[in-house]
Amino acid sequence: MAENNECTHDCSTCSANCSSRKEGPTFEAPHKDSHVKHVIGIVSGKGGVGKSIVTSMLTTVMQRRDYKCAILDADVTGPSIPKAFGTKGDILSTGDGLLPLETKTGIKMISVNLLLEEETRPVVWRGPVIAGTVKQFWTDVVWGDVDYMFIDMPPGTGDVPLTVFQSIKLDGIVIVTTPQDLVSMIVGKAVNMANLMNIPVVGLIENMSYVKCPDCGRELHVFGKSKAEEVCAKYDIPLLARMPIDERLASLIDHGVIELMENDYLEGAADAVVKFCEE
Ligand code: ADP
Repeated sequence: MAENNECTHDCSTCSANCSSRKEGPTFEAPHKDSHVKHVIGIVSGKGGVGKSIVTSMLTTVMQRRDYKCAILDADVTGPSIPKAFGTKGDILSTGDGLLPLETKTGIKMISVNLLLEEETRPVVWRGPVIAGTVKQFWTDVVWGDVDYMFIDMPPGTGDVPLTVFQSIKLDGIVIVTTPQDLVSMIVGKAVNMANLMNIPVVGLIENMSYVKCPDCGRELHVFGKSKAEEVCAKYDIPLLARMPIDERLASLIDHGVIELMENDYLEGAADAVVKFCEE
C-alpha cells in the first residue's frame, strides 16, 4: 500500500510495491447485462491521422456483415465519432446502468463527447478523470449482445490509453498511421507499447496513402512512395489496408452519414479482424 495512503485495491493506479500487489492487469468486468464477444482498440501515435474515420468505417463494414457492433469512443480530442454518424442525444441512465445511443444502422455507441453540453467545447478534464469515465463506459453501460466492439482510443501513449489497456481486455489493436509517420518512430512506439502490455497487434492501416487521379485513375503518391510494407515487415505485423485521401469521405463525415459510404477500402481489414478474432 502506498505510504500515507488508503489502499484503493486498484494496483493499476498505484506504483507501491507492497505485499498485496496483484501482478498483471486487473481487467474490469463489463456490466452484468453486457455480452461483448470481441474488443478491438484503434490506436494512433498522434492526432489527425484518421483514427476516428477508420473506426467509423471499419465498424460500418462489420455492421453491414450482420455482426452486432458497438463503438466506445474514448478519444476526447474531438467529437469525431458522433459527428461521423450524425448521432446526438443524451446518455440516459436506467438506474441499473447507462444506455448507449444507436446510429441509423443500429451500431451502439457511447462517447465522452456526448457528455459535453456543446460539442465545440474542449474537454478540460484531467487524464485520470477521462480515464475513469472511459472505464465506466465499460463497467456501467448496458451494452447487451455485441459481437465486435471498437474502441476509438485517444492518440499517443498517455494516461487514457494506458488505463484502457489495463482495465478492458482487448483482443487486439489496429494501428492507424499516415505515410509521414511511417518514416518516424511513431509506429514503433505503438507496437512496443502493445508488446509491453501483452496486447496482440492485428495490423496496420495506412491512411491518406495516395490520391486517385479523377481523370486517369492513377494512384498519386503525394507523400512519396509508401513505406507501409517495409515498416510492417520490420515490426512483423500485417498491412491491413492502404486507404486513399477521398474527398467523398470528408463530405460523408461532414453530413453525419458515414454509414452511406460506398467503397471497399476496409473490406480486407474487416476480413483480417474477423480471422484474427475467430481463429
Ligand atoms: P484522428 O481521429 O486520427 O484525429 P480523424 O479521423 O478525426 O483523425 O480525421 C481527421 C480529419 O481528416 C477529418 O476531418 C477526416 O474527415 C479527414 N480525413 C481522414 N482521413 C481521410 C481520408 N482518407 N480522406 C479524406 N479525408 C480524411
